[in-house]
Order: sequence, then C-alpha cells, then structure tokens
Amino acid sequence: MGKPRPNAGQVLNALGKLTSYLKSMDQNSSEFGEDKTAWFNYPLKIISETLHFNVSVLYRVSNIINNRLILEVIKVVDPGLMRIDLQEGRKVRLFLDARDKRYVNEVHAVLNKKTSHIKVKGLGCDMIGYVYLPDNFGGIYLVGGDCTGKCRSIQDFEISAMEIMCSLLSTIIMKTMFEQKAEYDDLTGLYNSGRIKEEVEKIILRFKRRPYGSAVLAMGDIDFFKSVNDNYGHIQGDLVLKEVGRIISNSMRECFDFAGRYGGEEFLIIFEDSDIQGGFEAVERIRHVIEKYDFPRIERNGTPVENKTMNVTMSFGISLLTGMQTPVTPKAWIAKADHALYQSKHNGRNQTTIYQENPGIK
Ligand code: GH3
Ligand code: MG
Ligand code: MG
Repeated sequence: MGKPRPNAGQVLNALGKLTSYLKSMDQNSSEFGEDKTAWFNYPLKIISETLHFNVSVLYRVSNIINNRLILEVIKVVDPGLMRIDLQEGRKVRLFLDARDKRYVNEVHAVLNKKTSHIKVKGLGCDMIGYVYLPDNFGGIYLVGGDCTGKCRSIQDFEISAMEIMCSLLSTIIMKTMFEQKAEYDDLTGLYNSGRIKEEVEKIILRFKRRPYGSAVLAMGDIDFFKSVNDNYGHIQGDLVLKEVGRIISNSMRECFDFAGRYGGEEFLIIFEDSDIQGGFEAVERIRHVIEKYDFPRIERNGTPVENKTMNVTMSFGISLLTGMQTPVTPKAWIAKADHALYQSKHNGRNQTTIYQENPGIK
C-alpha cells in the first residue's frame, strides 16, 4: 500500500515548511560544514512526504551542447538505489535524441523546460521536476524519483504542486550556493579556482579505488594577454576571457569532465578516463577553435566596434596521471601541467606540450 493522496491543505502546509526552511537558512549557515548537499535533505524529504512520489536524485544540468546533455549527480537520496549509473559527483552523458530509457523524463524536462512525468517501465525516474536557476548559480537542476502507491501514477494537481516546490527549491539551492560564495567564476561561467582544484583532488581520491584509471590535466594560458589589455583596454580583455570560457565549455566532448578558471587568464581542464592521446587531441581541438575565432571588438568605453574583430592564441601543457602513480598531491599534478605549459610558451606559444618526467632525456 502506498501513502494516501495529499490534500490541498497538506500541500500548502508543505509549501509553508519549505518557506520557513528557506528563512532559517540564514541562522544556520554553518550547520552543515563541508557537506554542501546536506542542505537539500530536508526540502527533498518534504517533497517526498507530501506528494505521491519519492525523491531519489538531484542533478545539475552541467551542459547542453548540440544534441548532448550532461547531468552532474549532486545528491542520491536513497543509498540502496539499484542504479549504479547514479553516483554522487559523477556525470551522466546523454544524447537528447537517443532516448535512453532510463532518462526519458530527464531529457523531456530539459527540452520542455518543465516538470516531466512520462510513464517509463523499469529503471528510469517516473517524474522529473525542473528547477530553474540563473547560469552563475549553476543553471538548471532536476529532481527525480518514483511514484509511490498502488496506481503508480501522479495526479495533475500533484504535478502543479511539484512545480511550485521546485521553484522554492531553486531559491534554496541558490541560497546554498551563495553561502558557499558560489563555485563559478562570474566572468567565464566555468568553475572558479577553488572548485576546480577540489575536482583535481577528487580525481586523485578516486584513483585509490580504481588503480587502473587514468586522467589528463590540461593547463591553458592565453598568449600575450597583457597586450590585449594594453592595446584595447580591460573591457576587451574581459570579453576575450568570457569568450574563451565559452569556447572551452562548448568544446566539451564525451571525455571532457571539468573546466575552471585557475587564475587571471589561465584555465584548467580535466579529462577523466582519458589517455594522453585523447587528452592531447581534445586540447588541440580547443586550441584550434580559439586560434581561428574572431573575437568581437569593443571600445575602451564598452561600445561594440562594428565589423571589427581580433584574434588571440593560447598555449597548453598537459599531464597524464594514472592510478598506479598515486598517491600524488593535487599541487604536484597541477605543477606538471604548468611545467609543460611553460615549455609551450618557451617554444613559441600557440601549441600544446605533453609533460615528460625527464624532458632532458630523449
Ligand atoms: P604570456 O604569453 O607569456 O602568457 O604573456 P601574457 O601577457 O599573457 O602574460 P602576463 O602574465 O604577463 O599577463 C597576464 C595579464 O592578464 C596581466 C593581467 O593584467 C591580465 N589579467 C588577469 N586577469 C584579468 C582579468 O580578469 N581581466 C583582464 N582584462 N585582464 C586580466
Ligand atoms: Mg598567465
Ligand atoms: Mg598569458
């Protein structure tokens, strides 16, 4: 037997609880310490308790490029869940047109920008709530789970209730992000340096469990960027940084996992489960796109200059890490990519160098 259908009073009561929780977040901002996802326990529980629906997963839409959708699993509510594809911190890669049966509602929600409830037999979520946030707070989130009860379906008014709960959830998530000083770089929309360094650390930790894994770390730096600022002004420089950030995230392919702004005009990209050749080819593709890209021109006062463009190039250094080479510190791995980047600069810029342990010995 499932739980009884909620009535309007219970739904309103739940909305009230979510609103109070949102207000209480100010007072309890240090309550959950490092566990960022703990903030979502209570709201997800309220949604589960109120509707004919058990929440099991919270995703962030990491990227949508052409027909490719990448979801980051932020929280798995039921640890006994039999879906090995859903693990916190991992990415799920989908094709919007391939209709993977496990993700029918996720894809439908993203394409239609609203809560989706298509009946799926078997593994997929029965309902996906669509949670809208502005880009610099991580963009779209999805809440998924299964209908409960004998009829295994959900009524229209529960879907409407879900939509209202999702909009409250968006404010809760946004507030959580704000508490954490946001994890995204305002200018480029990529991860900020704190968060990308955290990702480097996580990859290294994962190697403990997967000694045969490998990953490639790329460090990129815009060539002669100082002269962009000197010749055209800081506003032009900022625009170049923003566009480079966009190109990097648009170049995301299947093997591409994380990218962040490491420093001023320096970027870190992590290719998980990649060998050095795969990482090299992916970075070279990005480098070529940047080299050919016509950046719009903008005056020192911020006025766009019509029909004028400018070009920049970028240098990269990449370093492979395998599970067998660990333990290694994030700092040491980043230093190797940085060393290879230095070689690219030294050898004339606009190129990618692979780090070698003993560069002097051929
Ligand atoms: P190289 O090819 O050796 O990398 O030369 P470079 O000129 O790119 O390197 P350098 O480190 O000398 O200069 C980096 C410049 O990046 C200096 C700094 O003013 C600029 N910069 C750093 N962050 C920002 C930013 O957020 N906006 C803008 N417009 N400029 C920035
Ligand atoms: Mg630099
Ligand atoms: Mg530079």
